[in-house]
Amino acid sequence: MNSKTGARGFHFNAVLLQDGWHQNVSVRLDKNGFFETLVSDKNPENLVLIDGYVVPGAVNLHSHAFQRAMAGLGEVRGNSDDSFWSWREVMYRFVNIIDPEDLSAIAAKLYVEFLKGGFTCVGEFHYLHHSPDGSRYNDPATMSVAIFEAAEAAGIALTHLPVFYAHSGFGGQPPTAAQKRFVHSLNDYARLLEDLTPYCRSPLNKLGIAPHSLRAVTPAELSDLQNLRKSITPEGPMHIHIAEQVKEVEDCVAHFGGRPVEWLLDQLPVDDTWCLIHATHMNAQETRAMATSGAIAGLCPMTEANLGDGIFPAEEFLSANGHYGVGTDSNIRTNVAEELQMLEYSQRLSKRRRNILADGNNPHVGEYLFQRACAGGARALAQTAGVIAPGKRADFLVLEPVLDGLPLAAGGRYMDYWLFGALNRAPRDVYVAGKKIISQGRHKEDRSIDLAYRRVMEKLLAEV
Ligand SMILES: [Zn+2]
Repeated sequence: MNSKTGARGFHFNAVLLQDGWHQNVSVRLDKNGFFETLVSDKNPENLVLIDGYVVPGAVNLHSHAFQRAMAGLGEVRGNSDDSFWSWREVMYRFVNIIDPEDLSAIAAKLYVEFLKGGFTCVGEFHYLHHSPDGSRYNDPATMSVAIFEAAEAAGIALTHLPVFYAHSGFGGQPPTAAQKRFVHSLNDYARLLEDLTPYCRSPLNKLGIAPHSLRAVTPAELSDLQNLRKSITPEGPMHIHIAEQVKEVEDCVAHFGGRPVEWLLDQLPVDDTWCLIHATHMNAQETRAMATSGAIAGLCPMTEANLGDGIFPAEEFLSANGHYGVGTDSNIRTNVAEELQMLEYSQRLSKRRRNILADGNNPHVGEYLFQRACAGGARALAQTAGVIAPGKRADFLVLEPVLDGLPLAAGGRYMDYWLFGALNRAPRDVYVAGKKIISQGRHKEDRSIDLAYRRVMEKLLAEV
């Protein structure tokens, strides 16, 4: 036994590899919990037998952990023009009161829920940096450290994406009072990144750079951030919110004379180390250009539906060989199957057709969506994961061979049922770096994490 990973290897009865399902595969792990070898055999070495259906752990490429605290609380109709912008007002009320202990408790609970929902890795797009009055904590990295601690308590892999936020609108407008917890100078931001690099020595953690959006960061700041990435976290990804709202597109056109995705691709060397979050509102030319750039589309279908953002041109983007991953963004829901189902259904509703996101190589919509989201998400977070293969971290889910009382053979039909038909889609067991984190649907710290979360929520609900 290897004490760090819990096992030196496993024998999978049925496993989803890059080229489809395989039976009877033995895998060996290295000391950090990465797959070393995969061999088809009858388990001659008596490795730990995994008798369910094994699929890669999914990657959640976009989360704002604190927003979980307001899930379901922005659903009261105010006026008929309720939109992202009115939701943002509710969000800012929560922003005013969450302290580091609150954030840690909310994030730990959320990250356990991610694991139970099939996500083994999260990209935390983190902009709640300072104390509620905007002053710095004694340790300015306090809120980021709360995120690292929560990820460690939950046992999930983390790509931390501290957000650079400087302005309330295009043209370098000063931040509003509600945004004072988000704002950094470039120097302070560089110091934050440097302070966080020691947390990324674990094989589970990575650090990236996240200019909040084109409205919150000027072109000069964007190019400085690129240089910061080169010097501080050269392997880290670059994430930015883009084209989520029609108003944002209109403001961008008014200010820069170009649409957001068009302008970004024209101005900066965007490549496959970039992740464009949402990219909802693109014309046909932008859709093709973004696919060609290699940038990952960071889609958050449940949140985009909840906020009434619009529909991403997924069919056109995938036809142009674009890559995507999914995120849970505002964290109203925490299950990968729900996100992927919403992604496909949004296409069906807008095009009035069925089975849209699949291709000739894999006509099974469930499996096609899942595999692509895992691989694209891992790339977007610079995580060596997302697929079961030598060299990749051993992050995987064990799914029940019998769903809703139905014995289903491993294969494309199984994943279709799991995504679109199953009443219970919770994985039975979840492994991160070869270590079992969720066992029979339970996390070993469920009780204490639930209790801490409930205490925080009672406090917050009394205050907002
Ligand atoms: Zn977001």
